[in-house]
Amino acid sequence: MPLLDQGFRRLKICVEPWWQDKDKTLSNLSYLRQLVGQDCHLMLDVALEFTQLEQLSPFIPRLEALDFKWIEAPFNLENLKDHIRLKQLTRIPLGVGDLGMTTCREFEPYLKEAAFDIAQPDITLFGGVSEMMKLKQLLADKNKRIVPHAYNSDITIAVNSHFLSCQPQQEALEYSTSPSLLRQALIKNPYSIDSNGMVTIAKEQDGLGIKLNWDIIQSCTIR
Ligand SMILES: [Mg+2]
Repeated sequence: MPLLDQGFRRLKICVEPWWQDKDKTLSNLSYLRQLVGQDCHLMLDVALEFTQLEQLSPFIPRLEALDFKWIEAPFNLENLKDHIRLKQLTRIPLGVGDLGMTTCREFEPYLKEAAFDIAQPDITLFGGVSEMMKLKQLLADKNKRIVPHAYNSDITIAVNSHFLSCQPQQEALEYSTSPSLLRQALIKNPYSIDSNGMVTIAKEQDGLGIKLNWDIIQSCTIR
């Protein structure tokens, strides 16, 4: 499988419209595990494709059996009730906040109800590094993890790498493989994945250590 050959050790899949076919979905999930082997971590991003628990619950036993490492964005953030019910239904860690939370305050009802395991704020939507550090403080003794969301550019990946490197435990760096020009060519010295699926942050560097590709920025600028 090309991504595994490139060094990736964790793969996240999204719920797609074909998940409406339950048998097809169960069969595809099992085939995916067979394809990637037992050592590859698999995660599921519902990406708000479902609106209620009953749409997701038929797949939970299979996701558990296949050792999925988290379920992300299962429902709209306003649907706290089904997040709570999902937490009671499964041992798979539950991620929230990837697209929609903009400050620590929005995590508070979820924290109060113990309705998540992993906070997934997107640093570009969440008030930047300062708010991320506040969240780190807020969750420090709450037995919650932080895995920052990212899919859009190497700038986000650079910020997230620095944030993750300050955490005591090792967590995944979200790393989109989108062919988009802005994803692939926005900086001149992109992070690369080594054969163990790791990225290295250079010790000697200014700021985030990235060099913007101004040709791409100018060619994409609308004046
Ligand atoms: Mg997501």
